[in-house]
Amino acid sequence: MKIAIIGAGFGGMAAAYDLRKAGHKVVIFESADYVGGLAAGFKEPHWDWTVEKFYHHWFQSDSSMLGLIDELGWSNKVLFPRPLTVMYHDGKFYPFDSILKALLFPGLGFGLDKIRFGFVGLFLRLTNDWRSLEKVTADEWMMKWAGKRVYEQMWKPLLVGKFGPFYRDVNMAWMWARIKARTTRLGTFEGGFQNFADKFAEKLRGMRVEIRLGAQVKFIKRNQTSGLSIDANGVVEPFDQVLVTVSPNLMAKMCPDLPEEYLKGLLELKSMGAVVMVLSLKRQLSKDGYYWFNLPKDTGFPMLALVEHTNFVSKEHFGGDHIVYAGDYLELGHEYFSLNDEQLLERFLPAFERINPEFTRDWVKKVWVTKTNYAQPVPLLNHSKNIPAIQTPVEGLYFASMSQVYPWDRGTNFAVEIGRRAARIMLEKSKV
Ligand SMILES: Cc1cc2nc3c(=O)[nH]c(=O)nc-3n(C[C@H](O)[C@H](O)[C@H](O)COP(=O)(O)OP(=O)(O)OC[C@H]3O[C@@H](n4cnc5c(N)ncnc54)[C@H](O)[C@@H]3O)c2cc1C
Repeated sequence: MKIAIIGAGFGGMAAAYDLRKAGHKVVIFESADYVGGLAAGFKEPHWDWTVEKFYHHWFQSDSSMLGLIDELGWSNKVLFPRPLTVMYHDGKFYPFDSILKALLFPGLGFGLDKIRFGFVGLFLRLTNDWRSLEKVTADEWMMKWAGKRVYEQMWKPLLVGKFGPFYRDVNMAWMWARIKARTTRLGTFEGGFQNFADKFAEKLRGMRVEIRLGAQVKFIKRNQTSGLSIDANGVVEPFDQVLVTVSPNLMAKMCPDLPEEYLKGLLELKSMGAVVMVLSLKRQLSKDGYYWFNLPKDTGFPMLALVEHTNFVSKEHFGGDHIVYAGDYLELGHEYFSLNDEQLLERFLPAFERINPEFTRDWVKKVWVTKTNYAQPVPLLNHSKNIPAIQTPVEGLYFASMSQVYPWDRGTNFAVEIGRRAARIMLEKSKV
C-alpha cells in the first residue's frame, strides 16, 4: 500500500516506522521545515545540545517511548538525572517531587490533613479503576476525599494552572493518570529531544520512508473509485491509506468528507494553548540549583512554571549559557498570545527577581517565544465516551492525536503509543 502520514511529530514518525517495517510505501507530510512537532527544539551556533521550544522530559514509566528507543538501539543515549522540583509557599520554595516530599510541605499543615493527603495519594497510585473516577470532577472528588485545605494547597493550583477557566470541569481520571504514571527521576536524550527526532527521521529515511518538510496538507478527500487524495502545497496525490496526527480542529478542516457526527465530536473537544519563553542567561537563576518551580496562580507570579533547564542538564552543553523556561497554559484569546517577545519579557522579569533578588535585566542574553493553540486537551466528565475513534468513518482515513491518548495525559510517550496503535489498526484493516 501507499500510505500518507500527516505530521512528523513523534506519533507520526512512530507510525511510519511500523508501517514501513511491514513493507508499505510511506510518505510523511510535515508543514514545518523540521521534524519533532511539539517536542521540537532549536540550537544556537555555540551550543552542542538543542533546547526544546516547550520544556520536555520523560518519566521512567514512559515505557512506549523508552521501548521504542531500545528497539532503535539508542538506550545508552537516554539520561535520567534527578533534578529538584519545588513548590512555592509563603515566600519560600519547598521540595515537591514525591508523595514523601509533598508530605513535608508546610502548606499542608499538620495532623489530619497530611494523613488525608497521604491516603489519597496512595489510593490513586494503587487503583486502576479510572472509569469510576472519570464520572466525577477532580474538583469535587478532591474536595470530598482530600479535604478543603489539601485540595486548595496542593491540587487546585495544578488544575487552575493547567486548565484555567475549565479547571472545575476536568474529570478525576486526569488527576489519577498524572499521579499514576509519573516518577521523580526525569529523562532526556543526549543532545536534546530534537537530536532524537532528527536521528529517528534519519533512520526512517534510511528505511526509505519519504519525509517531505514544508509540505502543508490542505485537504484529504475520498476518491470516486477507491483511496484518498491529498492536496499538499497545491499538488494532489493519491494514497491507499492516510493517518492524520494534527489537532482535532485541524483534522476537521482538512477532511470535509467526514460524517457530521464524527466532525461534531472533533469540534466539541476542548483544549488549552501554551505560551513559553526560553531565555539564555549569563548567570544561574536559582542559587539552590532548583530545576522546576511550581508557581500557583494566586501567588502573583506571571507564569505557571519556571524551569531552569541547565539545573537538569549541564550548562556546558550550551556554551556556558544558563537556559530558563517561563511558560503557561492559556485559554485561546488570552492576552499573552498577542504580546510580542519584548512585552512578554517585561511581564516575566519581576518573577525572576522574586526567584533571585540579584537578578538584573542584563543577565538576559536572548529570548525565544513559542506559542501554540493546541497544547493540552481538556478531559471533561465521562470523556472516554467522547474520544474520536482512530479509524474514522471514511474508509482508509485514520486519526491519532493527543486528544485520544486518554485516560493518560498527553506526552511524547503516548504519542508513540497511539502512533504505533494506529499503525497496528491500519495493518489489520489492510489484511481484511
Ligand atoms: C508546553 C508543553 C510541554 C510539554 N511537556 C512535555 C514533556 O515534558 N514530556 C513529554 O513527553 N511531552 C510533553 N509535551 C507533549 C508532547 O510535546 C506531545 O504530546 C507530543 O509531541 C505530541 O506528538 P504528536 O506527534 O501527537 O503531535 P505533534 O507533535 O503536534 O505533531 C503533529 C505534526 O503535524 C504537523 N502539521 C500540522 N498541520 C499540518 C498540515 N496541515 N500539514 C502537514 N503537517 C502538519 C505539525 O507541524 C506537527 O509537526 C508537552 C507539550 C507542550 C505544549
